[in-house]
Amino acid sequence: MKCHYASDPKTGKKFLIPGCMTVVHSDDIKDCTCMMDITDFEKEEYNQKIKELRDEIKHLQEENRIYRKLWQKVKKQLRLKKTLM
Ligand SMILES: [Zn+2]
Repeated sequence: MKCHYASDPKTGKKFLIPGCMTVVHSDDIKDCTCMMDITDFEKEEYNQKIKELRDEIKHLQEENRIYRKLWQKVKKQLRLKKTLM
């Protein structure tokens, strides 16, 4: 049985019935993993890793852009120095 809410027939008060260990510990249905099977976990982990790698690539591309710009400035200054000598 997956995590779900039920209500007490006498009081009408809603309560959570955990179906997975994560919800047993957190007492929050948002953490439910009942619907996930091992492939969902792997997919989620895989997607997280892809996101991290894409972020890293983006960061490195930006860093590379900055260094290329700096290198162009240095080259320009070196050429200027040469012409003044
Ligand atoms: Zn659950």
